[in-house]
Amino acid sequence: MEINDSDKSLTRRQEKNLLKAANAVARSEFANPQREGCPDSETLSLLARRRRSLAESADLIDHIGTCSPCFIEYSRSRAAYKRRIRISYALASAAVKAAKDDRVRQVIICTPDKDLAQCVAGTRIVQLDRRRDLLRDEAGVVAKFGVNPQSIPDYLAVVGDSADGFPGVSGWGVKAAGLTFSQYPHLEDIPKDWRQWDPSIRKARVLSESLFNSWNDALLFRTLATLRLDVPVFETVEELWWKGPRPNFEEHCRRMKATDLLRRITSAGSQIS
Ligand SMILES: [Zn+2]
Repeated sequence: MEINDSDKSLTRRQEKNLLKAANAVARSEFANPQREGCPDSETLSLLARRRRSLAESADLIDHIGTCSPCFIEYSRSRAAYKRRIRISYALASAAVKAAKDDRVRQVIICTPDKDLAQCVAGTRIVQLDRRRDLLRDEAGVVAKFGVNPQSIPDYLAVVGDSADGFPGVSGWGVKAAGLTFSQYPHLEDIPKDWRQWDPSIRKARVLSESLFNSWNDALLFRTLATLRLDVPVFETVEELWWKGPRPNFEEHCRRMKATDLLRRITSAGSQIS
């Protein structure tokens, strides 16, 4: 599945090669085995997830450029973060695109990730948490979070999402967020004067001060929590039709030592032809 980001000038392969070369140089030139002057892992990880702006991190970036262990840790963290984002975007884009096709009865997004809840629509696009065996439709999203799917990015912006690495707005918990965004669907809809907030929202004054003092952060977190729905995933849903195992599937199963999987898939495949 190839996802192109038009705002990026390097292709992914070029970027990978570049990192590989830089990695090799860093290992030989800047080994730093004593890890002198190294930042902690948390800091590196925040930078990798762009939770620290590049402008504010000049010293840190200088250090990463001259410290192989930090450079490697940073690159890994950055790659893992980008992979996660790509997967979320692809899942969201595929779900929304498939749901537009009349031949599709239901779209089931198989991930427990909270950010995907923003794609749930009625009973047409639903989310499945396989570990807990929970199927969540739009009513289920409202029951769990207290808000409609379109408010999920705003909700996550204030509550925070550890999986995506942003902390949320201090003082805001799930209950306050649920109550607030059930009344005001988006951040901009929240009255600037806390006295105008719905009386059901407790500690409105504290919440309002905290929110409006970190308003720009909240907007940034919402952007991070908003999934793109326009990445190219497939042309038509027909491409998704399962027509049985591919010829090389047996070899994959052998390599994974998954003989039972091969048996089940082969038997399922013979039933559809
Ligand atoms: Zn270091």
